[in-house]
Amino acid sequence: MKIKRKFGRFNSISTKLVFTYFLIMIITLFLFSYYVVSSMKTYLYDDEKLNVTTTSNVVASFAADYIDSETGELDKERFTAFINGIGVDPRMRVMVLGKDITVLYDSQNNRNLLGTAQVRASVISAVNGVDGFKQYENGDFVTLDASAPILNSDGEVIGVLNIVYVPDSAAKFIDAIMTEILFLVIVILLLVGIIIFIVANLVSKRIVDFTSKITSMSDDGILDEKFDISGHDEISRLGEAFNTMSEKVVNLEKQRVQFVSDASHELKTPLSSIKLMADSIIQTPDINVEYVREFMTDINNEVDRLNRIVNKLLYITKMDVRSEEDDKHFELISLNDIVQGIEKNLQPVAKKADITLVFSTPGEIFLMANKDVLWQGIYNIVDNAIKYTDTDGYVLVAMEQTGGNVVIEVRDNGVGISAEERDKIFDRFYRVDKARSRETGGTGLGLSIALGAVKYHNGRIELESEEGKGSTFKIILPDVVPERAEEDKNEENI
Ligand code: ADP
Repeated sequence: MKIKRKFGRFNSISTKLVFTYFLIMIITLFLFSYYVVSSMKTYLYDDEKLNVTTTSNVVASFAADYIDSETGELDKERFTAFINGIGVDPRMRVMVLGKDITVLYDSQNNRNLLGTAQVRASVISAVNGVDGFKQYENGDFVTLDASAPILNSDGEVIGVLNIVYVPDSAAKFIDAIMTEILFLVIVILLLVGIIIFIVANLVSKRIVDFTSKITSMSDDGILDEKFDISGHDEISRLGEAFNTMSEKVVNLEKQRVQFVSDASHELKTPLSSIKLMADSIIQTPDINVEYVREFMTDINNEVDRLNRIVNKLLYITKMDVRSEEDDKHFELISLNDIVQGIEKNLQPVAKKADITLVFSTPGEIFLMANKDVLWQGIYNIVDNAIKYTDTDGYVLVAMEQTGGNVVIEVRDNGVGISAEERDKIFDRFYRVDKARSRETGGTGLGLSIALGAVKYHNGRIELESEEGKGSTFKIILPDVVPERAEEDKNEENI
């Protein structure tokens, strides 16, 4: 656990950000100081290089006067006097080399190079008639090595003038600047580091807070968690999405609890009646057969009612699962077939209640649908229209294909629905008039099933109603053109 936490901290956004920041800063600093040092060196030694090459050229042009053209010997005394006379920088080691690149003169006698051959790049170049220069670096020190050919009046090389110069080390100067830069950089590093740390912690704190809310939702079942939204950044947007989701989850949970409680209640009512009647039969000695028959009839009705509720509940569960399936089973069907089937089923019911049931089917309407699901949806609405219309009333079912939709209209002149009830009647188990619903065998599930069936077809239900005057339910389904559906299928196959 401890290890996990340790890694957790190491993996945190703030640690990653701070670590990345330091890495970037260190790489930048390294490149920056390398650039500063090398450009400072170039800048500092450029002047010295010019100085040394010019001096070697000037001295070389005079040196010919002190070399015997025939023997190649150098008049050291006169040359030394000349060198001292022109005041060459004493830090420059001036050497005169013969044609054979051996040292004839050395301004610093202490090392005693006299007579030795100087096989150095600059010397070789000069002996071949071209000025030579080379810069050697040794730790903090830089050695500048410049040579110029000594030419006689005929332009022939009779010797080489070589200057070796170690300018004062720039290292100290560079070091001083680098120390200041380093100090500045450390201060900047720390300041920016602290700012990044604070910002990263603020961001990560919000994410940690967010995670703990999600965890308490999933682990502890606290569904109404809310994320505090401050600002308009990505995390705030994530928080808003989370809050919307949490509201939906809470609503779904409320609906689920309500559904279970309503379903239990609905099942309990007929069960209590059955129990009551069965108890009466058992506890009444010498009970009259007529009473038993009456009770048994009631019990039978209640069992039928239970059966209806259970069947509808099963249907609803099946529909919920079906709606979640991506692959809905639609086929090209004739709406007229469905409507005729419903008419066949409900005409006797309407007749029994002395209600005129009229179906108006102008032409054949085909659409892509799931026959069973659509049948159940339309059936429930027509069935309701008959149930909630009084004797001598009428129910009219009409259908039409219009504006890219297929509309099935069910109109009655029954009891109607008040404005406040209009939205609620589609809720599961909701009934306006419980007694009437019960009388007509209602369960309060019919409209919720109808709405589910219509939504399954991506449609909607519109309702117009006036209390005491009647209601009009309009089932509006998108008219999926069959040819188009076929083409889509063919395209997929290609
Ligand atoms: P029930 O099984 O009770 O009919 P429904 O879900 O089908 O349940 O309908 C819910 C309620 O809506 C009914 O109880 C009834 O009060 C009301 N209702 C439905 N259709 C109509 C209608 N055509 N006219 C008046 N009221 C209706």
